[in-house]
Amino acid sequence: MGKINRIGVLTSGGDAPGMNAAIRAVVRASAYYGITCLGIHRGYNGLINGDIVTMDARSVNGVIARGGTMLYTARCPEFMTEEGIKKAVGTCKYLGIDGIIAIGGDGTFRGARDLANHGISTIGIPATIDNDIASTQYSIGFDTACNTAQDAIDKLRDTMQSHERCSVVEVMGRNAGHLALHVGIACGATAILVPEKELDVEKDIIEKIRQGRINKRSHFIIIVAEGVGSGVEVAEKIKAETGIDARVTTLGHIQRGGSPSATDRVWATRMGEFAVSGLLAGKSNRVVCVVNNELIDVDINEALQMNKDIQGELYQTSKMMAV
Ligand code: ADP
Repeated sequence: MGKINRIGVLTSGGDAPGMNAAIRAVVRASAYYGITCLGIHRGYNGLINGDIVTMDARSVNGVIARGGTMLYTARCPEFMTEEGIKKAVGTCKYLGIDGIIAIGGDGTFRGARDLANHGISTIGIPATIDNDIASTQYSIGFDTACNTAQDAIDKLRDTMQSHERCSVVEVMGRNAGHLALHVGIACGATAILVPEKELDVEKDIIEKIRQGRINKRSHFIIIVAEGVGSGVEVAEKIKAETGIDARVTTLGHIQRGGSPSATDRVWATRMGEFAVSGLLAGKSNRVVCVVNNELIDVDINEALQMNKDIQGELYQTSKMMAV
């Protein structure tokens, strides 16, 4: 692959707070290194239909503090066809785009791999509140989502405590329990249901609530990860077996919004700069990853083969705290 003079940046898949900070970092690093940066709208759709704008250092003023993504995000089924990818590659050739930085999750990285296979250099940046990307310990948006859910559950706790109720809270995470586990620990949950671990409802929830009442606990919080299913069944069981009033709250999309935390802004900035430097160093088909607090890059095909589990010792600690 030749010299990099012009790059494009896009956000794709589910949005996450901090995506704007990553876009800003890509744009500002490009300005620093003296290359042109183009903003591609609506994920891979923008590459197919040419919905692309030139970005300079000033076009990202103020976005570091804003949630969502200024480039919009969308799913693009057409890109997954041979015809779609040919159109996207055609746009890159026409506009002289030598490299693409794709911000998103595993689906987004599959798209980046396909572009790399067609001769366009690509680097992926992990951004998802689910933190379910196996190759990296951290994804942009996770910290903010934890804080948002924590704030909402703290508010629920006030009212649950006053009425001596049980709150069953559904949190996002797709098929992963990272968000649920972190939020559950941060909010002092009685039990945390995650898809990665089998939980004995009788022993781990009902018995804990009974014991809690004996220990003069006035209220209870049960966290249910999206990947486990609905909290309604859990609430019904708690009501039926303990007599406690259990209320279900689904936090929903508020978890995906809001001004990014300092942690997300700093990682997003570092990752954006790292991705631009990587392209300039001739790298392609790589994903930026955090391993032991350091940034590295991993081959996309290898990254997509990896599996991720929740942190076992964190899960054990969460159980110990629920007395
Ligand atoms: P995420 O990036 O958050 O995992 P998706 O799985 O929805 O989100 O993927 C986002 C977009 O990436 C898709 O709409 C599509 O354009 C592209 N994409 C996903 N999977 C593939 C694939 N197997 N091959 C090529 N492109 C893909």
